[in-house]
Amino acid sequence: MYVRRTKIVATLGPATSTPEAIEAIIRAGVDVVRLNFSHGSPAEHIARAELVREMAQKAGRVVGILGDLQGPKLRISRFRDGYITLIAGDTFILDAALDKDAGDQQRVGLGYKELIYDVVAGDELWLDDGRIVLAITAVQGQEIHTRVINGGVLSNNKGLNRRGGGLSAAALTDKDKEDIKTAAAMKVDFLAVSFPRSAHDLHKARRLMVAAGGSAAIVAKMERSETVEQPTMDEIILASDAIMVARGDLGVEIGDAKLPKAQKTLIKRARYLNRAVITATQMMETMIENPIPTRAEVFDVANAVMDGTDAVMLSGETAMGKHPVRVVETVATICKEAEQANAHKPDHRLDQPFAYMDEGVAMASMYMASHMGVRAIAALTESGATPLWMSRVRAGIPIYALTTNDAAAQRVSLYRGVYPVKLPTPFKDSKTANREAVELLLKVGIVSSGDLVIITKGDLSGIKGGTNQLKILRVGEHQNG
Ligand code: PGA
Ligand code: MN
Repeated sequence: MYVRRTKIVATLGPATSTPEAIEAIIRAGVDVVRLNFSHGSPAEHIARAELVREMAQKAGRVVGILGDLQGPKLRISRFRDGYITLIAGDTFILDAALDKDAGDQQRVGLGYKELIYDVVAGDELWLDDGRIVLAITAVQGQEIHTRVINGGVLSNNKGLNRRGGGLSAAALTDKDKEDIKTAAAMKVDFLAVSFPRSAHDLHKARRLMVAAGGSAAIVAKMERSETVEQPTMDEIILASDAIMVARGDLGVEIGDAKLPKAQKTLIKRARYLNRAVITATQMMETMIENPIPTRAEVFDVANAVMDGTDAVMLSGETAMGKHPVRVVETVATICKEAEQANAHKPDHRLDQPFAYMDEGVAMASMYMASHMGVRAIAALTESGATPLWMSRVRAGIPIYALTTNDAAAQRVSLYRGVYPVKLPTPFKDSKTANREAVELLLKVGIVSSGDLVIITKGDLSGIKGGTNQLKILRVGEHQNG
């Protein structure tokens, strides 16, 4: 039996708003859903989270919830007629003083008025993920004068980046701060911070989350050019629990041609620093319309898997596409094939000392498992830390995370090769734990008689971070503990 190791994050939206649609994508293989705070009201998000939990339970699956903050995405304001059409060579003005609904063929207002202080003549502005390109010819008072390089339809509230990045809006807006409270009340498992500039932004988000009574894992979206440079890159990774390779905005900031190299570096660094990583944006873009992906999209998902990503993310494909279930099934199949093609020599952190006892047990387990042909690992965990460390090693051995803690189960749903199992009650003692863990692996069908399995656990005290035991045994001989 082979169970897909790479996880699927799916964004909810109009195409996935009914109970039936949510249940269907969960059954098709979604491990984590993403609620996008750029759209919808707090009440809608709260209702949606409830629905996700209900449908996950119904489908008998553990599904994590990720709340994604809007962040300081710079946007133009609105047009009188909703949109205009720009032609290459036209002149066009971004006017910080203009009423926010008064845009026309000559000018449009700005959501972020301070933009006038951040740009100079010669800069290029990319609008709508780079579909429209404007070259700045002059900055005069409240007006940014530009010449259109790439024209097209420009509609209300479109996003805006500077080529090369470095625009200075603070990462956590007032709206983000309010949304963190909503996210805490919803008990999201992951909180994604958009456009962080430094580790400081992640620490701040974590403090706000804790102050609001939440304990979500913090996800840093890598989407500014300065955050894919060292030392900022490592500092941000270490300040977060997971990162997202946010290829949409990052591509605009550093140029698409630099994205593949950035993706590989980010995935490698995240894994090396014991953090999880999500690869995002346009993975199956044409499936928004079409029932099958392009070959290039198949390769894109497969390459992210081969790079070592924990999860691949779907955005518009599941939020507003025509084939939400089909796209999840398609991604699941591609992941499964790609990860099998990718036998890796585990050399994770061979050059590093281990800081914690449970980290040591996790690393010893993986070393032993890959050198002895262990079929599966059962990690009894209260925090999910041990399965995280284990899954940073690319050994291809399934890791079953057995926990009585719902939040831990939902958190490990993101980690590659980790399968959450919720236990109704803690095991009585060590012997019972060994026996029942193996019974559970037998029941799942991942092991059979004669297979070696490893079980890790602590003193079964229910205390977090307490893993201090590694047990290896052979299925069939396990009744004796
Ligand atoms: P977004 O983030 O979808 O919230 O913009 C992901 C990205 O930029 O790729
Ligand atoms: Mn983005």
